[in-house]
Amino acid sequence: MEDNAPPVITLVVPVLNEVETVTIFVERVHTVLADASWQWNILFIDDGSTDGTQREIRRLSQAYEKVGFIALSRNFGKEVALSAGLLNARGNAAVPIDVDLQDPPELIFDFVNIWQTQGIDMVYGIRSDRPEDTTAKRHSASWFYRLFNRITETPIPENAGDFRLIDRRMIEALRAMPERNRFMKGLYAWVGYQSVGIPYRRPARVKGESKFNYWKLWNFALDGMFSFSTLPLRIWSYIGGESRAWRLYTSPS
Ligand code: UDP
Ligand code: MG
Repeated sequence: MEDNAPPVITLVVPVLNEVETVTIFVERVHTVLADASWQWNILFIDDGSTDGTQREIRRLSQAYEKVGFIALSRNFGKEVALSAGLLNARGNAAVPIDVDLQDPPELIFDFVNIWQTQGIDMVYGIRSDRPEDTTAKRHSASWFYRLFNRITETPIPENAGDFRLIDRRMIEALRAMPERNRFMKGLYAWVGYQSVGIPYRRPARVKGESKFNYWKLWNFALDGMFSFSTLPLRIWSYIGGESRAWRLYTSPS
């Protein structure tokens, strides 16, 4: 980047069966970011949609010069889609953001402001209010963060979603990590760097339905735990060792 050139920021947007929301998102972002003093573009990652989302984002990429997309060969899950997006994002920083407008694009101005004035590598949103979530989802999220932070050496901030700004320096550090299991919030914490959180109110989804059911969330939590702590493995080897000892004890010879 030339010294005085405005920074370029890529919005990284994973999408799974979002035919109803992609156009609303693109229009809204164009309106909100119209006066930005920096440059921006949108990179959709189609995470194996089967509902015509890919046709729609292809059309959007032809209609709007700021819109591009990549398509994954099947549904890999949001973490992999985000990771693919970050690694393909151009510019000085990337902003992972949900397509359903639960992550208000207005907040990107605050992210950029803190990033530019404080020279921080990552600015993340903290969900100060989660009125759209069921009590069960809020409780299980809080339970997950507490457990995760107790058993790992790289704690992650509670109630921080994927919505954040990540500096190029940190993207390059993430690129260097070979993990196939990409629990992004754990990876961000693991690579280090300075970060700061700012609270925001998370509204309801603009249209369509959540793509996460309890089964997916449960597996997501397990992936996170297994990739960032050896405690689950230690527990299993202990249980495995115990049952083996029990078999030896009970077998006649
Ligand atoms: N998403 C994805 N792959 C998946 C599940 C979700 O790319 O396997 C995308 C989804 O299209 C949306 C974002 O991830 O842009 C957040 O999903 P959702 O709104 O369903 O999650 P929630 O807000 O209910 O946690
Ligand atoms: Mg959502």
